[in-house]
Amino acid sequence: MTSEGAKAPLIIVISGPGGAGKGTIVRELCEQDSKVTVSRSWTTREPRVDDKDDSYFFVDDATFNKHKDNGGFIECNDFLGSMYGTPMPDSNDERDLILEIDVSGGRQINEKLPEAILIFIDVEDPELRRRLSERGDKSSEIDKRLLEAERERKEAKELNYQIILNNDLVKATKAINEIICKARL
Ligand code: 5GP
Repeated sequence: MTSEGAKAPLIIVISGPGGAGKGTIVRELCEQDSKVTVSRSWTTREPRVDDKDDSYFFVDDATFNKHKDNGGFIECNDFLGSMYGTPMPDSNDERDLILEIDVSGGRQINEKLPEAILIFIDVEDPELRRRLSERGDKSSEIDKRLLEAERERKEAKELNYQIILNNDLVKATKAINEIICKARL
């Protein structure tokens, strides 16, 4: 529980196309700042070679749907045929919480918690295609993800996301850290 007089933790939504470097930036932010933590989502997609051990809780459709029906997610969405969901935040944790989710999930969070900070991390093509290919995505999968990235960019602008270009990991991480510090004041 948040102690009396203490501010409620910030909710920081980080969205952006696969390959934009969200995961790396989020890990850096958590390492640099012990007052920040990241939510671990549930997904029905198959694990990928570049997934870290704690990237997701990988579950089957039935387990996901049961958790959803029990009100276990604050938001969830179907992304390119697989389900992804953010578990309800732990109200005993006073750390600021990062949600690394897609823009549709960001929209749901924005509707429920308008004070949430929305950040879109982007990388321009052809760099994005190169990174997706390097992490082992199939070419048909890359095309789908690039199309989805274009759709998400437009939706992110509509929702007034703050856009951070990740051409340089250190600079991008610093820019997000500054947004978080400013919001804490
Ligand atoms: P990936 O398959 O590359 O790990 O993730 C695909 C997309 O799903 C990414 O945009 C990622 O941010 C998003 N995502 C991951 N977890 C969640 C979640 O819990 N909810 C929603 N809405 N999107 C998620």
